[in-house]
Amino acid sequence: MQRPYNFSAGPAAMPAEVLEQAAAEMLNWPDSQGRLSGMGVMEMSHRGKEFQSIYEAAEADLRELLAVPANFKILFMQGGGLAENAIVPLNLSGLRAGNGQGAADFVLTGSWSEKSFKESGKYCSNHIAASSKADGFTAIPPAASWELRDNASYVHICSNETIHGIEFQSLPDLKALGSQAELVIDFSSHVASRPVDWSRVGLAFGGAQKNLGPAGLTLVVVREDLLGHALSICPSAFDYKTVADNGSMYNTPPTYSIYIAGLVFKWLKRQGGVAAMEARNIAKAELLYGAIDATGFYMNGVARNARSRMNVPFFLRNESLNDAFLAGAKEAGLLQLKGHKSVGGMRASIYNAIPLEGVQALVQYMQEFERTHG
Ligand code: PMP
Repeated sequence: MQRPYNFSAGPAAMPAEVLEQAAAEMLNWPDSQGRLSGMGVMEMSHRGKEFQSIYEAAEADLRELLAVPANFKILFMQGGGLAENAIVPLNLSGLRAGNGQGAADFVLTGSWSEKSFKESGKYCSNHIAASSKADGFTAIPPAASWELRDNASYVHICSNETIHGIEFQSLPDLKALGSQAELVIDFSSHVASRPVDWSRVGLAFGGAQKNLGPAGLTLVVVREDLLGHALSICPSAFDYKTVADNGSMYNTPPTYSIYIAGLVFKWLKRQGGVAAMEARNIAKAELLYGAIDATGFYMNGVARNARSRMNVPFFLRNESLNDAFLAGAKEAGLLQLKGHKSVGGMRASIYNAIPLEGVQALVQYMQEFERTHG
């Protein structure tokens, strides 16, 4: 069966192979030798040997895919990106504070970094180092213009803004900017779509529900020397050191989401890994932005060097055609293209699970719609 293409921003399209395998294994999970366990993954103890093997394979595959160095811990947590907006300052804001109040700096490039900034103020002194809000979040302020404070423990960026469609094409080198702070990245919506330069990162976090698997799993990758500095008010289940010391099993982890993410990691490896995905993602993004820019019927206002490969917001110049565009798209098997309510227009999220053919189908529809409505 050819399923429609699903351009949702998240929870988002999953590889059909993964869903098929999960369906086949739902009632009776087989191990890698095909021996049946007699139970589904949802029914397993997280401490039993069956789930342990699922967990270990998922962690090892992810470490390989993202080329995570040995001195970084991979944590499988819960709470999503928004909980991390609190958990990160609870853990890291005091890194360089001595006995004083912790501090963190933020670069605002869209709704998600702005939310992170606001939440952090409950736990530390926060400061906007730079913001593109005045331009409607259509660009990334140049790193040389960032006002970084000497006492900041970390600098937070959202390396891909899901709503505004802004992506850092390279991560800032804080040391070269004269800063001692650690770089924290929210990579929720482009994790595993491109490599990460870990030499520039202290901590990365992301919800799984866009590029990695189902909602409910939150990935944290953190350099070991940043563990053990949590504020005393930090809940134990959210203290990265406690989580790391217990192999992400201080409390019950989201076992089924970890299992599905593990299947996605195997799928990613079969696709050739993150480098191969990046090449596909570049081709998909070029095709779609090319179609948007072609005639002026559609438009995207993001600075070219900041355009996201994953989330592509676009507008019809004649907005009275929006409903007709969406209805026709649905007819054509192109789902969930409506833009975020704060921005309007359309948004196509073209994560790893959307093949080039999906973007070709979208572009073909856009051209056809323009022919009949232009
Ligand atoms: N950060 C980014 C970049 C996101 O796209 C999202 C969700 N769309 C979040 C944070 C919030 O994630 P959650 O809903 O899992 O808390």
